[in-house]
Amino acid sequence: MQVYEWISKGPEETFRFAEKFASLLQENDLILLEGDLGAGKTTFTKGIAAGLGIKRTVSSPTFTLIKEYHGRLPLYHMDVYRLQDSYEDLGFDEYFEGGGVTIVEWSKMIQEQLPSEYLEVTITRQGDQIRKFEFKPEGHRYESLCKELF
Ligand code: ADP
Ligand code: MG
Repeated sequence: MQVYEWISKGPEETFRFAEKFASLLQENDLILLEGDLGAGKTTFTKGIAAGLGIKRTVSSPTFTLIKEYHGRLPLYHMDVYRLQDSYEDLGFDEYFEGGGVTIVEWSKMIQEQLPSEYLEVTITRQGDQIRKFEFKPEGHRYESLCKELF
């Protein structure tokens, strides 16, 4: 399995890259975002939202678990960090198959409930402004998405 790497030199660069990435997204795409607190998961999501034409401000759904936005495609933004029981089924499938783009922060919390195909993006802090992005596609759809992006 190929891993695609990209280095960001600042939040604006991450935002612009995410906007470009968003232009390639299709309905029912699933993006898993991994990385420590402050890595840039929400920053990346904000760029995706802008790229999908979403005008509303995207904020971290840490307390609500799921937030929904409407642009060229619907965006379902989940942050499952605070989920108490990882087996708790909040009807995730309805989102994954809901015709929009789903982004899950801290997806490891609901690993057992994820479909078998997705794009995993791991963000690692390498300095004040430097972030390493690793794109790991699972399945044909996400392999071709990465080939388009890189
Ligand atoms: P997370 O959702 O992973 O906890 P956030 O996106 O909320 O992270 O926060 C990332 C923080 O790091 C922001 O304050 C952002 O301005 C800062 N930052 C610095 N450099 C970068 C970069 N290259 N890419 C993204 N964010 C960056
Ligand atoms: Mg966040």
